[in-house]
Amino acid sequence: MRLTPLSALSLLSMAVGISLASTAQAARPPAPDLSNAEFQQCLDGLKNSSKFRGVDGFTFNNYRPSQPDPSVIQSLNYQPEFQKDVWDYLSALVDKERVEDGIRAKHQWGNTLRQIESRYGVKAEHVLGVWGVESNFGQTLGKKPLFESLATLSCFDRRQSYFQGEYANALKIVQNGDIAPSDMTGSWAGAFGQTQFMPSTFLELAVDFDGDGRRDLVNSVPDALASTANFLDKRGYRTGEPWGYEVKLPSGFWAASNRKDKKSISHWRNQGITLANGSPLPYDLSRAGLLLPAGLEGPAFLVGKNFDTFYSYNASENYALAIAHLSDLITREDSSKTDFVTAWPTDDPGISRQQAKDIQQALLNAGYDIGGVDGIIGDNTRTAIQQYQSSRGIFPADGRAGQKFYRTIIGNMAPSSSQYDNQYGQPANSQPLNPAPADRMGQLIQQQTTNPTTYSSQPSAQPSRSGNTRYRRVTGSDGVVKLVRIDEGL
Ligand code: CA
Repeated sequence: MRLTPLSALSLLSMAVGISLASTAQAARPPAPDLSNAEFQQCLDGLKNSSKFRGVDGFTFNNYRPSQPDPSVIQSLNYQPEFQKDVWDYLSALVDKERVEDGIRAKHQWGNTLRQIESRYGVKAEHVLGVWGVESNFGQTLGKKPLFESLATLSCFDRRQSYFQGEYANALKIVQNGDIAPSDMTGSWAGAFGQTQFMPSTFLELAVDFDGDGRRDLVNSVPDALASTANFLDKRGYRTGEPWGYEVKLPSGFWAASNRKDKKSISHWRNQGITLANGSPLPYDLSRAGLLLPAGLEGPAFLVGKNFDTFYSYNASENYALAIAHLSDLITREDSSKTDFVTAWPTDDPGISRQQAKDIQQALLNAGYDIGGVDGIIGDNTRTAIQQYQSSRGIFPADGRAGQKFYRTIIGNMAPSSSQYDNQYGQPANSQPLNPAPADRMGQLIQQQTTNPTTYSSQPSAQPSRSGNTRYRRVTGSDGVVKLVRIDEGL
């Protein structure tokens, strides 16, 4: 959900479980020491200010925080030094798991989505794309108490005026009875619910689609999906148009990425551009702009107005591309190939969330204290990767979790199908994949770990005991061999 470019990335990272966090040296600034006396004085002032005119005294007092939350000021001023490459960003947001979840959601909510499509004119898969990227289909809503977050942001640091408006709006939502006060949790910046709307967007665009008289974007999937469709519709969505498509540029073509400079399809045809598979460009977009997320050497796209409506949800082209791509894969109902036709210009592509979990498990097994396994490459995991790299002379020791590091720490085995197994072969310039014989895998991992934990190299599906942890070798349907930790007692 777009609030401001400033907070959009941090908010998105919370919504989708992606960390845009820094390298080890670039930890968050310390939480500031906020005066509660100053905070309470500020709230007294807000209560009687014009911004809070629509909020009654009972509501204001009832949800008035007793303390500020310094962590939100920390988040407000967090400037990540580690910028994710577009391929890292997309590989986690549009992975096999999310496509499968999306296909399931499409069938589960088929009737609702058809009704929404006929009322708002927004394609079901486009709504699903937003839902999947914003809240992982309702699974990741954010846990920060909204009133504490917004009240703190209203009284300290930069942008107080903006957040005062959002704080007042959040109180109005509860006052209106749309959302239960206990459900008012979300991102540090105040976006909440399955659509991750800011309170002002909620008041403007949320709709009651299930007909119970409340606009409940937290608990009602129909309300959330219809509100998303309403948002896209109000931002200029064109019924029946695709968002755009991946294209192939002719050799020698030169242009800068400029999504906003929209031209007719005839214009692009005359430039020699085709669909990625070589077919002529269809005329189903009235006008389209060229999007080159990684320059001329990477995947290229022509995007229309509907792509811009995705962008308006959260001001980032990569974010909009994630929605677009996810929606296409859900339309095709094919989770086996999540790559674009043209490979990203890198020899070290990004990893899926499952691969991130595998890396975290391997780091834990190797004795690195990274907390738990959550599939999010955050500060702790990045620091551990950096230490792991440094201790083994891996250069650069940049803390990045890409396919190369995945292969290093998991063993020299084939990466998961979602990253490589497409009909167009491996990404350009990639290292040749050279899966080691299965019986070498345990040996490789053993060499690479620092603690004496050993792994089984026994035949498939035979549990083995080593230290306090047992592992089983499992060959997935995609042919990838993994070591799976078995809980004690199994
Ligand atoms: Ca409702």
